[in-house]
Amino acid sequence: MAESPIYHKHEAVIVGAGGAGLMAAGNLVGRDVAVLSKLYPIRSHTGAAQGGIGAALGNHEEDHWEWHMFDTVKGGDYLVDQDAAEILTREAVETVYELEHWGLPFSRTPEGKIAQRRFGGHTRGEGKGPVRRSCYAADRTGHMILQTLYQQSIKHGMRFFDEYLVVDLLMEGGRTAGVVALSIADGQLHVFHAKAVLFATGGYGRVYQTTSNAHALTGDGMAVVLRAGVPLEDMEFFQFHPTGIYKMGILITEGARGEGGKLLNGRGERFMEKYAPTMLDLAPRDIISRCIAQELREGRGVDGKRYVHLDLRHLGRDVIESKLPDITDFVRTYLGIDPIEELIPVQPTAHYAMGGIPTDVLGRVVVDEKNTVLPGLYAAGECACVSVHGANRLGTNSLVDILVFGRRSGRDMARYVAESEFPALPPQPAEQAEARIARLREGSGGGGREESAAVVREELQQELMEKASVFRTANNLVQALDRVRELQQRYQQVRVQDRSRVFNTDLVEALELGFLLDTAEVTVAGALARQESRGAHFREDFPQRDDQNWLKHTLAYRTAGGGVELKYKPVTITRFQPKERKY
Ligand SMILES: Cc1cc2nc3c(=O)[nH]c(=O)nc-3n(C[C@H](O)[C@H](O)[C@H](O)COP(=O)(O)OP(=O)(O)OC[C@H]3O[C@@H](n4cnc5c(N)ncnc54)[C@H](O)[C@@H]3O)c2cc1C
Repeated sequence: MAESPIYHKHEAVIVGAGGAGLMAAGNLVGRDVAVLSKLYPIRSHTGAAQGGIGAALGNHEEDHWEWHMFDTVKGGDYLVDQDAAEILTREAVETVYELEHWGLPFSRTPEGKIAQRRFGGHTRGEGKGPVRRSCYAADRTGHMILQTLYQQSIKHGMRFFDEYLVVDLLMEGGRTAGVVALSIADGQLHVFHAKAVLFATGGYGRVYQTTSNAHALTGDGMAVVLRAGVPLEDMEFFQFHPTGIYKMGILITEGARGEGGKLLNGRGERFMEKYAPTMLDLAPRDIISRCIAQELREGRGVDGKRYVHLDLRHLGRDVIESKLPDITDFVRTYLGIDPIEELIPVQPTAHYAMGGIPTDVLGRVVVDEKNTVLPGLYAAGECACVSVHGANRLGTNSLVDILVFGRRSGRDMARYVAESEFPALPPQPAEQAEARIARLREGSGGGGREESAAVVREELQQELMEKASVFRTANNLVQALDRVRELQQRYQQVRVQDRSRVFNTDLVEALELGFLLDTAEVTVAGALARQESRGAHFREDFPQRDDQNWLKHTLAYRTAGGGVELKYKPVTITRFQPKERKY
């Protein structure tokens, strides 16, 4: 392993080839760019997105970006930065048309316009009931986005490094200088020297036991920048989607309820009538997930089990098979159930990270309460926090986010690399990565005790699921934090079984576990400190939202001793003053 790394030099490096990374790449055409991805690009999680992209096109009924903005701010329980939400919702419209012009095969209205469907929390202005705002391609919207963007990248001759796992960020003289990556195919380390680096590495849902997130969503980018001294913002806000397939977590898109699907408890009651009389099954996700958890706690699950039913039967075969073909397939394949005739068992599933690497509206990473920019470092997509989702993201807004802010990041990077010189590389840039990998692969099992990554990961996922998911208390969070720290200690003893260099997935998973542990620690530390309930963060011991003390963003830093230091920064409020949130 001690063989020397291979060096590369590119003006810009993009880490991640999901929607955010590819959209940024598409806006760097003409510059010298390398796109690094641990997965083959079209396997990125963006390809799994089902329901659609929110944009106020008004193709079915009147709609305005201001209404979309209001819904986004209210949906995020007023923790949203409103300058960013304005950009998101205004630019959503042109971005959707841009994708249409690049060839994205949207579903159509009878007149040939882009078809739109209802989605949770999207309304006709304040409280006036649902609006059709989600632009979709059946229930394969993300797949179509990824294919469209990847084709564009190939057309423009982008340089791809597929199955390269980025493990470290390089900084020199206060500037970004590149990244270190492991080539999964042959175990070789590579140093990418760059003027600018964009992290577009997606979420970290794999920190929870039940999740809709793909295997690879392990918070790598977030953890890599955290270790380099950058804070993470609002990590205590993690969204649980109400309708994961029971026990599997596989997502049933909110589009199913957008088309008219209903939730029923064990007594066959449409329980959302009680909790959200206007929006019913299309209330935002944080609210519905809590309502389901409440129904289960009070014994109204189906047959005493921990699930409720999603009923699509009344929609009829045509709607189900034409508008929801993929989820119909999932349900038939994984459950042996036909949604045309039968009820689907669902429970909340860990779905989306509202928090992430703090950025400004140009995608530049900011490192403190004063929004000081770290030169050359960018982040976009689920790993970033602009913050347009605040305490709870609305359905369809992530795809908008990756496209709008992916594009803005790409454009600003193009400007930055044109104006700046290459920074120096730090001496021995791959040293830390070499040591970490050698310890995992060849170490002696320090202290005589060897740990297995799989066991540590499972314990972590279980702990977070039990103590830091839909309902939280100080007691549980204290225990969870202790547990995460104990697991971080045990992680030091992890040794991989497979010692080879070629496609060593054991090693990759062990490195990913290190990232998961670090994101878990800031998630729990932020949740413990925040003594209020807002959006997806619900504290049973502090059930009210507390604007007086907590209308602020968390910034979590890693301290030299390995702990977490929390600071806070104000929320940007432009148009909409915080109000009570009712649906
Ligand atoms: C099942 C499902 C359905 C969804 N449906 C919708 C929807 O209908 N509408 C909506 O708005 N949102 C939806 N979402 C959310 C949305 O799809 C994601 O938030 C969004 O696609 C994330 O895009 P991204 O580009 O940030 O990251 P991803 O698409 O996850 O891509 C991450 C990229 O980073 C790379 N990467 C990660 N770590 C490393 C590393 N260490 N080194 C190198 N490369 C790395 C990966 O290879 C990958 O290319 C859904 C999510 C899921 C899980």
